[in-house]
Amino acid sequence: MRKEQLLEGMKGRINPRVIEAMEKVPRELFLPEALASRAYDDTPLPIGYGQTISAPHMVAIMCDLLDLGEGMQVLEVGGGSGYHAAVMAQLIGPEGRVYSVERIPELRSWAQENLRRAGIKNVILVEGDGSLGLEKHAPYDRISVAATAPHVPESLKAQLKTGGKMVIPVGIGYQELLLVTRKDGFVVEEMMGVAFVPLIGEQGFREPGR
Ligand code: SAM
Repeated sequence: MRKEQLLEGMKGRINPRVIEAMEKVPRELFLPEALASRAYDDTPLPIGYGQTISAPHMVAIMCDLLDLGEGMQVLEVGGGSGYHAAVMAQLIGPEGRVYSVERIPELRSWAQENLRRAGIKNVILVEGDGSLGLEKHAPYDRISVAATAPHVPESLKAQLKTGGKMVIPVGIGYQELLLVTRKDGFVVEEMMGVAFVPLIGEQGFREPGR
């Protein structure tokens, strides 16, 4: 599929700001070279280490639900290729920051290189267990989790600003994408069924074989 075709198909369903941000980010720079020609297929693709880059429509839906605005401080859990972080970085502009946590060191380094090649400067990549969030830069206006969790981690809830929003897939087997809004308490809305790789960590699932 061509990029224009892919983005055209999102019109009327996804906020135009999100489509515009996706127009600016070359997904081919966030894929292993052998898969670059499939960059605008609307599907997840393998990025090594048993992980995937999310499908473009999923990135669009998650960005749309988060309603990302200029200057926001965003935490991403599961940096992968860096693509989703790059789209969020466009949406929050140069005054905003995306802190993206990735547990696999090789992917963290590769994402860093991908973001450099794409000229994205407002994403800070951190290696670690994102199920615990990233206390150092908390609290966050928005939190985007790109791996499925057994439940919404308490650390992530604690690191969300009042008025803030988080998107997170929860469950194994059947997974539900949740939109969590912090008001006086937490309002949890079930948005849709999804398929993500597991969140492995202290407040996620156990590493296979451990
Ligand atoms: N957002 C990514 C992109 O645009 O390429 C796709 C993310 S991929 C679906 C999920 C990622 O979450 C994987 O790279 C995986 O290594 C990472 N992950 C799993 N558990 C994690 C944890 N506890 N902390 C940080 N990253 C984690």
